[in-house]
Amino acid sequence: MKLILLGAPGAGKGTVAKLLTALDGSVQISTGDILRGAVQAGTELGKEAEGYMKRGDLVPDSLIMGIMEKRLQEPDCAKGFLLDGFPRTIPQAEALKELLAKLGISLDLVVNIAVPREVILDRLTTRRTCENPKCQAIYNVKSSPPKKEGICDKCGAKVVQREDETEEAISHRLATYNEKTAPLIGFYEKEGLLYTVEAVDSDTVVNGIKGKLGL
Ligand code: AMP
Repeated sequence: MKLILLGAPGAGKGTVAKLLTALDGSVQISTGDILRGAVQAGTELGKEAEGYMKRGDLVPDSLIMGIMEKRLQEPDCAKGFLLDGFPRTIPQAEALKELLAKLGISLDLVVNIAVPREVILDRLTTRRTCENPKCQAIYNVKSSPPKKEGICDKCGAKVVQREDETEEAISHRLATYNEKTAPLIGFYEKEGLLYTVEAVDSDTVVNGIKGKLGL
C-alpha cells in the first residue's frame, strides 16, 4: 500500500505505520526518524537539521525533499510505503505530487488521524523513545513502559525523553502543526485521497484503513 499518514505529533502515526508494515511488507518512512538518526550520527544533514528540531520548528523543505527524493527510489519502496511525518507543508505536498508523477507512482490513500488535543498533550509528555537510531521504539511511562525501567525491550539501548518533548517544545510543535500542516487536510480532500478517522486507539485506525482499502 502507498499511504500518507497525516496527524498532529502524538496522533499515533508511527504506531499505526508499524502495525501496517506487518500487513503487506510496505516500509515505514519517518522523516523524523531519519533526521534524528542523522543528528546522532553527526552528518551534514544532522548538523543542519538539529537546531530546528530542538526548537520544534520544521526543517527547511529543500532538505526534506532531498531526503525523500532518494528514499522513495530505494528498492524496498517497491512493495509500498507509509509516509509518517511527511509531507508537513503545502510546498512539500506539491513537490511530492510532482516527484510521484515523475516516478510513475500513485498514492492509495491519505489518512488523517484525528485525536483530541488533551489526548495528544498527555501522550507527548509521557512518551519515551529508544535512543538507538536504528530502533527508535516508542514507549509510554503510563500505558506501555519498557519491562525494565529506562531500557528498550527490543534492543537494550537507553529509553529517553526526546529533546523536543519538553512542554515548551511540544506546544510549539502543535502550533506549527496547526499553521503549516493542518492545511494539507484540505489539499488532499481536493485531490480526492483523504480518509479521516477519529480514533484514539491505533487498532481502530488500522481496521478503518483496511476496510477502506478492501484488505
Ligand atoms: P517527528 O518525529 O515526525 O515529530 O519529527 C521531529 C522533528 O523533525 C519535527 O519537529 C521537525 O523539526 C523535523 N521534521 C520531521 N519531518 C519533517 C518534515 N516533513 N518537514 C520538516 N521538518 C520535519
